[in-house]
Amino acid sequence: MSAKGRISRRDLLKGSTQARPFLARPPGVSELTLKGCTRCGACVDSCPETILRLAPDGVMLNPEAGECTFCGRCAESCPETVFADDAPMAHEMGHVMEISARCFVEAGISCMTCRDACPEEAISIKPRVGAPFLPLLDAAACTGCAACSSVCPAGAIDAVRKDLNYA
Ligand code: SF4
Ligand code: SF4
Ligand code: SF4
Repeated sequence: MSAKGRISRRDLLKGSTQARPFLARPPGVSELTLKGCTRCGACVDSCPETILRLAPDGVMLNPEAGECTFCGRCAESCPETVFADDAPMAHEMGHVMEISARCFVEAGISCMTCRDACPEEAISIKPRVGAPFLPLLDAAACTGCAACSSVCPAGAIDAVRKDLNYA
């Protein structure tokens, strides 16, 4: 996937005013349904992992804050129709994760933290001769849970837009 649509740590911290950064959302929220978000904050308060925030355009998921366990409490707490009701849409994220060039291995430092954190085994490690093992993320297997990005010591794993099966 291209770099277009990435949300970077810098964008989040500075609230970039350049091209609108891509923001990850909680499961079951699409760009269309997000229009119904009143920013009441009920979902943010309900999340046991404290990974939700209020962005100017509605609820967002901070991939660096922790792992989404797909518990569904955010959807249950929402008084509007922002979250999809039915599986599988209710469990689908509008993003997947992507490992960037900020990964420690690019600096010759060995690290497998993301591979070990992924509950879906979506990250594999490719051995290389004369260089640290390379982490490879299978976007097709990624649920967007953010377990990897929240533990990455380099802040190297970004959320990127995924085509949803619903609008
Ligand atoms: S599904 Fe649960 S863990 Fe995931 S964002 Fe919603 S409340 Fe938080
Ligand atoms: S956890 Fe981060 S630094 Fe470590 S291998 Fe994965 S992407 Fe690279
Ligand atoms: S976001 Fe994707 S790659 Fe990262 S831990 Fe979750 S399933 Fe694995």
